[in-house]
Amino acid sequence: MNAQEQREAMLYEPAGDGKVRCRLCAHRCLIPPGELGICHVRKNIGGKLVSLSYESIVAVHVDPIEKKPLFHFLPGTRSLSVAAAGCNFRCEFCQKWQISQAPREGRILGGQKISPTELVSAAQRHRCASMSYTYTEPTVFFELAYDTAVLAAGKGIKNCFVSNGFMTPEAVETIAPYLDAINVDLKAFRDETYRRVMKARLEPVLSCLKALVAAGVWVEVTTLVVPGLNDSAQELSEIANFIANELSPDVPWHVSRFHGDYKMSDAPSTPLETLQRAMEIGREAGLRYVYCGNVPGHDGENTRCHQCGTLLIHRLGFSIQSNRLVEGKCPDCGAEIAGLWK
Ligand code: SF4
Repeated sequence: MNAQEQREAMLYEPAGDGKVRCRLCAHRCLIPPGELGICHVRKNIGGKLVSLSYESIVAVHVDPIEKKPLFHFLPGTRSLSVAAAGCNFRCEFCQKWQISQAPREGRILGGQKISPTELVSAAQRHRCASMSYTYTEPTVFFELAYDTAVLAAGKGIKNCFVSNGFMTPEAVETIAPYLDAINVDLKAFRDETYRRVMKARLEPVLSCLKALVAAGVWVEVTTLVVPGLNDSAQELSEIANFIANELSPDVPWHVSRFHGDYKMSDAPSTPLETLQRAMEIGREAGLRYVYCGNVPGHDGENTRCHQCGTLLIHRLGFSIQSNRLVEGKCPDCGAEIAGLWK
């Protein structure tokens, strides 16, 4: 495929001498002619930035929305989940490294060409209430996600991102009109950790989270609790307080169990006591909804009323066992439960 046929990237500008500046994520790569950005899926071809991943879809699955995880967003519905190769982070514990890190490691992109129209048709065929751009990092396959999201929104299908939250304000502003929900990984609360382990920075993620909430996108936050990396009570408390005070006490926080993977395959799994302590820290910070991830059968999978404590949504893994919400309210005390319920 030649440069004329490839999908031109969104959000970039000429930067002199044939170079271009990508404005999609906070790396803001300055890319000379013939070179790739840090994500390795955006290339400067003759002064034009193109998305190499637009036609390299590496995964399409029908998932329960709970798997994203999004717990306060159309519970019990299906989401057509789509991924293209690549990522702008290099997390040493990545659980999807085979597809997220393939371009950077020099492996061929692979994947298949599926048009946005075909993706939306597949979502309709499988009776999906939403599309999810997930598994890898949707920011770096932004054009595919954007084109599909616009079409999906026109058909009454919602759109969700599962993201590391490293988008620029311009990217948030561009996708927000079509983005209904997002789960953002807040992986640590130390810039040093972001720089050393993820090869990124913390501040842009915090700014992105605030911008998403301000734009009216439904936001949930996930922290994969990795022993020795981000599991101190102090750091977990800083994350919880940021969510409660800078975003909203209504933003759900998922604290997830880590299992060794990629370059940290020998690292121990997160002890259950650490996750339980993280949940307590979240509640003490004032968060109304704190969930425990990757521990099927734990009570922390369930939604309880923040006011009276009654069980509202009973989950087992990714499946809904019962849902007692009545028009987004607790049937016992009438408290409003934040989220998008239908
Ligand atoms: S999306 Fe890729 S090319 Fe653009 S700034 Fe981020 S890492 Fe660089």
